[in-house]
Amino acid sequence: MEKLKKILINKGKIVSDSILKVDSFLNHQIDYNLMDDIGNEFYSYFKAKNIDRILTIEASGIAIGIATAKLFKKPFVFAKKKKPNTMFGKVISTTVLSFTKNMNYEISLSCEFINQGENVLIVDDFLARGNAASGLCSMVEKAGAHVAGIGIVIEKSFQGGHTLLKEKGYDLFSLVRLRSLKNKISFY
Ligand code: 5GP
Repeated sequence: MEKLKKILINKGKIVSDSILKVDSFLNHQIDYNLMDDIGNEFYSYFKAKNIDRILTIEASGIAIGIATAKLFKKPFVFAKKKKPNTMFGKVISTTVLSFTKNMNYEISLSCEFINQGENVLIVDDFLARGNAASGLCSMVEKAGAHVAGIGIVIEKSFQGGHTLLKEKGYDLFSLVRLRSLKNKISFY
């Protein structure tokens, strides 16, 4: 996605060889026109797949998920990082290792908002080692639903997540793939 590459070059901030800061347009302040473009890209790629639901993880995936779900005209749900007291009934949980905080946390999803047999499209802002995406896939599968695809905005292809998800057979579509963050952002 050329527009996204330009935005990353102009506004992305390299924090280290492994972390890119995108908080001026993607995960703190949000560029809503870019969200629409991202939704369009995911829709074009996955539209033949009979998607029933869009799933992400809070908080950075939410804007992307809503923009995508609007085009599919399907429900959107996000996994919560802290199970609220109001989450009654059957809940699916799984443990995920946070890339940015380097600690384990539990994510939860109410069974009310995912149905057996559904085709679920998972979306997220970044793919690094693949823990967040794998955790979401495992929740979908625990619910008896099917992972129809995984849409990622920024894939850091050098951190293993791409290989992990492809080896598991998932249909992974990343809008930009980064080769490296050493000194500058290098794209594939
Ligand atoms: P993974 O689970 O694939 O190792 O990491 C993906 C998750 O960690 C994403 O949900 C994203 O929020 C966060 N993340 C991974 N790498 C980066 C990064 O370079 N910058 C930011 N801002 N978040 C990241």
